[in-house]
Amino acid sequence: MTFRITFLGTGGGRHTTMYQVRSTGGMLIEHDGKMLNVDPGPGALVQMQRIHYDVCNTSSLIISHCHPDHYSDAESVAEGMSRGGWEKKGHIYGSPTVIEGDGKLGPCLSAYHLRIVEGYHVFKPGDVLDVDGLRVDIKKAKHSDPTNVGFVFHTEHGLVSYVSDTEFTEEIARQYIGSRVLILPVTTPMGNRIKYHLCTDDAISFIDIVKPELAIFIHLGVVIIRRGPDGEAALAEKSTGVRTIAGRDLMVLDVGEELSISDAETFEGGWIPPSSV
Ligand SMILES: [Zn+2]
Ligand SMILES: [Zn+2]
Repeated sequence: MTFRITFLGTGGGRHTTMYQVRSTGGMLIEHDGKMLNVDPGPGALVQMQRIHYDVCNTSSLIISHCHPDHYSDAESVAEGMSRGGWEKKGHIYGSPTVIEGDGKLGPCLSAYHLRIVEGYHVFKPGDVLDVDGLRVDIKKAKHSDPTNVGFVFHTEHGLVSYVSDTEFTEEIARQYIGSRVLILPVTTPMGNRIKYHLCTDDAISFIDIVKPELAIFIHLGVVIIRRGPDGEAALAEKSTGVRTIAGRDLMVLDVGEELSISDAETFEGGWIPPSSV
């Protein structure tokens, strides 16, 4: 069984997103031949074009919460999954604000886009999903969208966790104990704590509790990008003793017996996938 994550984007927060200092395209996960888009914010479609990934091959879409850096490209991904709306294919998973809206936030997808796919599902912390054969556990977060969650992916080679936007609490961190890979949204650098997000100090506390084999910083805001994400990751590695790296756009993580990191091959110019004709 393969389990490969392509980081379509490693940016997060309002300013990184509005200026696309880094892409905010979320993650593309390949598991046993199935493709899953996770949190496709601005840039997801552009990055998929750059690596010549045909979005019609996506079988499911997961959206953690209703902030644009996590969902703005989602309707186009839904159109990809359903081959432009011609085939009722693909599943969408989202928190209540994503699928239903709560009067203040969302929904993230129009009624039309929910209707063109095969099915859509609202999740909450504690749920266990079967996403095209991949077990995904839904975990609690503490964020300005109160319905936000994190995810634990059960791979043949251990647990891979994507902690979506949250502030640090011990209870939240403890949910991820046992993870082999911990993907953390580190929005701000050391000494720059802001509400509802993690700074490097919080990431260190988080990693100390979970003790994964590898920690990866993503969702980088402009201040941590200016400060230097590699240096911030190195501070965390020094303090925790856990291998910690800063994600980079189009980085690829293969989870097998070994964890292997590489970069996706990119291509220039327009590309029209064969499936479109
Ligand atoms: Zn975010
Ligand atoms: Zn958010």
